Amino acid sequence: MIYDVAIIGGGPAGLAAGLYAARAKLSTIIIEKGADGGQIATTDEVENYPGAMEDATGPKLVARMLEQAKTFGASRVSDEITEVDFSDKIKVLKSAKEEYKARAVIIATGAVPRLIGAPGEKELTGRGVSYCATCDAAFFQDLEVYVMGGGDTAVEEAIYLTKFAKKVTIIHRRDELRAAKSIQEKAFKNEKIEFMWDTVITEIKGDGMLESFVVKNLKTEEEREIFPDEEDGAFGIFVFIGYLPATELFKDIIHMERDYIVTDENMKTNIPGVFAAGDNRVKSLRQVVTATSDGAIAAVQAEKYIEDNF
Ligand SMILES: Cc1cc2nc3c(=O)[nH]c(=O)nc-3n(C[C@H](O)[C@H](O)[C@H](O)COP(=O)(O)OP(=O)(O)OC[C@H]3O[C@@H](n4cnc5c(N)ncnc54)[C@H](O)[C@@H]3O)c2cc1C
Repeated sequence: MIYDVAIIGGGPAGLAAGLYAARAKLSTIIIEKGADGGQIATTDEVENYPGAMEDATGPKLVARMLEQAKTFGASRVSDEITEVDFSDKIKVLKSAKEEYKARAVIIATGAVPRLIGAPGEKELTGRGVSYCATCDAAFFQDLEVYVMGGGDTAVEEAIYLTKFAKKVTIIHRRDELRAAKSIQEKAFKNEKIEFMWDTVITEIKGDGMLESFVVKNLKTEEEREIFPDEEDGAFGIFVFIGYLPATELFKDIIHMERDYIVTDENMKTNIPGVFAAGDNRVKSLRQVVTATSDGAIAAVQAEKYIEDNF
């Protein structure tokens, strides 16, 4: 069978694209390699997606998105695309077990934040450990937070976090920041920001919620455990040590900048009929609201492309 639209990835961008494409009566397949919903399915709190209130956990939100896409006829399969062939008008997506053919392809493979790799980190993600200040800063109102990283994003996000947190400590593995000088100056001037140099986090502890973490000074090898202020009883760790877009598959095929897919405002890539949507593309804000918006635009543009070319 040749689908009208094949969507790689079933996160918010892919599910929104699936909804719009299927509702436009295009035969649509969403191919997802893991659990439905992508990154947002890993968090219990989503306060900033319009209309999502207290009851909107990540898994609930994406379950509704998937249901909605399926209601209009999109099909969803569990599979990992490992190879693509975009050289002909009919695009081919290959997995270990299957070959999918489509008139248009929407790449919605997302991205993943780079982890510290410390024991306890994965278990406590969304439970005191965060990778997104825009998403989670408000949960740390008047509490202490620790920011891991020393690049532009880490320092900018640390400055942003001072609007909420009572104190922000930047933990950096070197003895100077990598961030641009202008950003550094702002951080040094900010009275709420402190620094812990030459230091890494080696373990994160907590039973269902972050309770403490261990840091190691790389010069002295000294290790110590950090606990929240007794009165507060809680604190947070924000990790900003890079982001890994899931775009490896498209290297040398699709135009990219620093591993992110370049599109125009209509989500078109350099290949006619191939669109990209969500966190995997060059953009200024990586959130559910922008991922779903990208997905909708990509699907509408895919519909136009098919009308004009088939
Ligand atoms: C812990 C956490 C909390 C967050 N909180 C918020 C929040 O409160 N509010 C907010 O707006 N945003 C939040 N975000 C950001 C938000 O989750 C992302 O911006 C959004 O999920 C991006 O959607 P996406 O569809 O582009 O990508 P993703 O969510 O990354 O989904 C991509 C999907 O593609 C699949 N995939 C990748 N490669 C392949 C392949 N080769 N074959 C098949 N499938 C593939 C992946 O398995 C994944 O499911 C949070 C992120 C994290 C990590």
